[in-house]
Amino acid sequence: MTGEMQRQPMQVSNLIDHAAREHGNREIVSYWANGQETRTHWAGIRADALKMTQALQALGVSKGDRIATLAMNHSRHLVSWYGAVGVGGILHTINPRLFDEQLVYIANHAEDKVMFYDAAFQPIIDRLKDQWTSIEHYICYDPPEGTDGFEEWIAPHDGNVEWAQCDEQDPCMLCYTSGTTGNPKGVIYEHRSTTLHAISGLQPAAFDFDAQTVMLPIVPMFHAASWGLPWAGAACGVKFVYSAVNEPKILHDLMMKEKVTHSAGVPTVWLGMFQYQDQTGVDLGALRMATIGGSAAPRSMIERLMKAGVRVGHAWGMTETSPIGTVGSPSSDWDDLSFDAQVDQVCKQGRPIFGVELCTVDDDDNLLPRDGETSGRLLIRGPWIIKRYFKADADACDENGWFDTGDVATLHPDGTLQITDRSKDVIKSGGEWISSVELENVAVGCPGVAEAAAIGIYHPKWDERPLLAIVRSPDSTVSVDEIKAYMNDKIAKWWMPDAIEFVDEIPHTATGKILKTQLRKQFADYKLTA
Ligand code: ADP
Repeated sequence: MTGEMQRQPMQVSNLIDHAAREHGNREIVSYWANGQETRTHWAGIRADALKMTQALQALGVSKGDRIATLAMNHSRHLVSWYGAVGVGGILHTINPRLFDEQLVYIANHAEDKVMFYDAAFQPIIDRLKDQWTSIEHYICYDPPEGTDGFEEWIAPHDGNVEWAQCDEQDPCMLCYTSGTTGNPKGVIYEHRSTTLHAISGLQPAAFDFDAQTVMLPIVPMFHAASWGLPWAGAACGVKFVYSAVNEPKILHDLMMKEKVTHSAGVPTVWLGMFQYQDQTGVDLGALRMATIGGSAAPRSMIERLMKAGVRVGHAWGMTETSPIGTVGSPSSDWDDLSFDAQVDQVCKQGRPIFGVELCTVDDDDNLLPRDGETSGRLLIRGPWIIKRYFKADADACDENGWFDTGDVATLHPDGTLQITDRSKDVIKSGGEWISSVELENVAVGCPGVAEAAAIGIYHPKWDERPLLAIVRSPDSTVSVDEIKAYMNDKIAKWWMPDAIEFVDEIPHTATGKILKTQLRKQFADYKLTA
C-alpha cells in the first residue's frame, strides 16, 4: 500500500515562489557600501532571480555547477541565492575575511565557475584571480560608476523561464567551515535538508517570525548559510533590512528608520551596539527579539538586552548543522521565575528545535545522563545534519547518524543544552575540566573589561592552568586584583586564572571567534610558577 497524497519535491525555489505570490510586496531594503539605499520586495527578488537564471544559462552554467559569492548582505546577494539555485546550480557563499591561502583553497576545491562579488572586495579578486583555476566569469554587484555590473548583466533577460527541476536530494548550497585547524571543509546542503531546516526555523521558539517581522540580519550571508534566514524569511514574508556595512551607527539608523523588530548576529555585534548606545544615549527602538549565536553570549549582554525589553534567543549550531541545532525560548514556568533566574536560563544555549536530536557521550562513547551536571562530547543527528564533507571519502557521522560536534556540553533534564567549551579549548587542570567559555563570560562582565580570552598554560603540577588575556575598554585602568575580586564569587575557587595578562588585541577567526591557536602561540613560552 502507498499513501495517497501528492508527491511534490521539496525544492528551494518553492520558497521564493511562495514569498512572491503570498508576500510579494513585503520590502527588502539595502544599505550599500557607497551609502545609497535601495528598496525592492519579494516579488522583485523573484523576478530578478529568474532573469539571473537566464543570464547564467547564457554563460553556459548548468545543473550542479558551483556559483560563488564574495559579498556582504544586500538584495542582489539575496537574488543570487535564489538565482544560483534556480538554474540548478550550487550556491557557494565565501567568507571574504578568510586568509588568502584559504580563499584560494576553497574556490579551487569547490571548482567554482562564476563569482559574484562586491566592489569592496575587488582587491581580493585582483590578488587571487591567477590562482583560482576554475572561475570563468566575474560579476560585480556594485561596480564603479560608468562600468557594467550585475544589474546590467541581468537586464537583457525577460525572466520568462522555469526553475530547474531538482530532486529533493540534489545539492543546492555549499559552505566551508572556517578551518581554525587544517583546511576548511565543505558542507553540501540539499534541497530537502534546506527546506526542512527553513520550515523548522518558523516555529515561534526559533526565530519568532511572522508577516509583521522586520528583520535586520547582521549575521553575514557568507557565515554558516546565514543561519538559514534568507530561506526561512521567504516562507513568512519577513521584511529584511540589509546593510553592506557593519557599523553600529549605520545599523542603528536603519533599525530606527525601518522600525526593526528582529535581529540576528554573533555576540560581538552587540558589544559594538552597546558602545554606540553608551556614547549617544539612544535606545533600541522597536527591537523585541535578538537571536544570538556563533559563540556563547555573555551574561552581561543577555541581561542588558532583556532589561531593554528584548527577548534573547540564544542559539547554538554549526556549519555542519545547517546551522540551527538549538534555540532558547521561554520555558513553561518562565512567568514564575525571578529576573535573575530568567537570565540564568537564557545564558544556556536553548533546546533542540523539532527535527534534531542531541546526546552527550564520554570518551568511550558511553551515553551520559541528561542530569544538568555531567558534561561530555556533544553529538547531534537529524535530516539537516551533515553526513559527509564535500569530496570526502568517508562519512562524518557514525552508522546511526550521530555527528560529533567537537563541543563539550551538559544536557539538562528538560533538554536544555549548555555548552562548556570546544573540546580542544577546554582547560584540563588536575584531571578536571575548566570551561574557558565560562571564564571569558564572567570576565567580560567586569567593568573596564572589553574582551577576554582564556587558554590553558602548562603547569608542572596541574598539567594546565588558566591564563586570561584581557583587552581593557578605552580609558579603563582596571587592574588584575580588581578583575579577580569581581570574578571571585562568580566561579569555583579552583577555576580562578593563575595569570591575567593585558593585551592590546585578541586574535579572531574570520567569523569573529577568538582564535585560540594564535593566542596559544603568543603565550607559548609563558611560565607559571608552581
Ligand atoms: P566556524 O566558526 O568554525 O566556521 P561555525 O560557525 O560552524 O564554524 O561554528 C560552530 C561552533 O561555534 C560550534 O561548534 C560551537 O563551538 C560554537 N558555537 C556556536 N554557537 C554557540 C553558542 N551559542 N554558544 C557557544 N558556542 C557556540
